[in-house]
Amino acid sequence: MKKKVTLVVPCYNEEEVLPLFYEEFCKVSRELQKFEMKVLLVDDGSKDKTLEIAKALSQNDSRIKYLSFSRNFGKEAAIYAGLKNADGDYVAIMDADLQDPPSLLPEMIHAVVDEGYDSAATRRVTRKGEPPIRSFFARRFYHLMNKISTTEIMDGARDYRLMTKQFKDAILQLSEYNRFSKGIFGWVGFQTKWIEFENVERQAGETKWSFWKLLLYSLEGIIGFSTVPLALVSVLGLIVCMIAFIFLIVILVKTLCFGDPVAGWPSMACIILLLGGIQLFCMGILGMYLSKTYLETKKRPIYICGETNILKGREENEEI
Ligand code: UDP
Ligand code: MG
Repeated sequence: MKKKVTLVVPCYNEEEVLPLFYEEFCKVSRELQKFEMKVLLVDDGSKDKTLEIAKALSQNDSRIKYLSFSRNFGKEAAIYAGLKNADGDYVAIMDADLQDPPSLLPEMIHAVVDEGYDSAATRRVTRKGEPPIRSFFARRFYHLMNKISTTEIMDGARDYRLMTKQFKDAILQLSEYNRFSKGIFGWVGFQTKWIEFENVERQAGETKWSFWKLLLYSLEGIIGFSTVPLALVSVLGLIVCMIAFIFLIVILVKTLCFGDPVAGWPSMACIILLLGGIQLFCMGILGMYLSKTYLETKKRPIYICGETNILKGREENEEI
């Protein structure tokens, strides 16, 4: 029997690229005749015609399934839902915009099926076509992450990855609400083969990630995979205490030797402002960890399914 490979494709407002994606999928599946290729389109609450197109594609081609969220839950939720509902011996996560070249699939499948790796991941070695400021901050982020986290996160790693069922099940065991897939993939371990490629620009439509959204996402990564900022806050507190102690001795000696003329209120104001700032900054860091903990304890579902056609052939009451 043919082994089954399911592609999980998160889609948010991708009406322009979905037909192009389907074309590429057909092309690559002709190359991979030895496998039964499937696609699970996860519509992340799109506001355009993405869902209609997904439905039309799935009506014409039984290899395509879709699952649609009740609203936009974000790419991480879409990946989670896709992995949870994908069956098959191997599962791949792939963007809809063809920035994850489907032509790499044969190589990835070869690595997992023939070479015995548990997953085949991709990383782009160039960032051509990306705004330079975005590339700069992305590089800084990976550098920082690898310094402060024990989980290895590759620079330029994409979410585009093929994995075995065992790897997928391990990822699903991490059912946290604040998800950061790049960290989760590294955290679960197993043998991963890295496949490098040159950056490909989006085929149509626009990126869904603003600079602000990316910044928040990177904080998700830092808070989710490192507690070093909390330790740094304590160290900072200690350093400030030590400086204050030295100041105290200097002032004491000065007063004893030269008397105590009232002077220096501007420096006092600066010190108060500086300490106030440091305290607020540290409280902010604590607050971020606390807010993530708060969201986690609510145990809200990661996504809510609006409609899907994957129930067919499965138990009616099975949870999607
Ligand atoms: N995406 C999603 N939900 C979102 C934002 C993005 O499912 O809220 C999907 C999007 O449809 C695409 C993938 O995630 O398939 C990557 O998004 P995009 O291409 O906008 O990001 P970039 O490649 O610019 O980092
Ligand atoms: Mg993209």
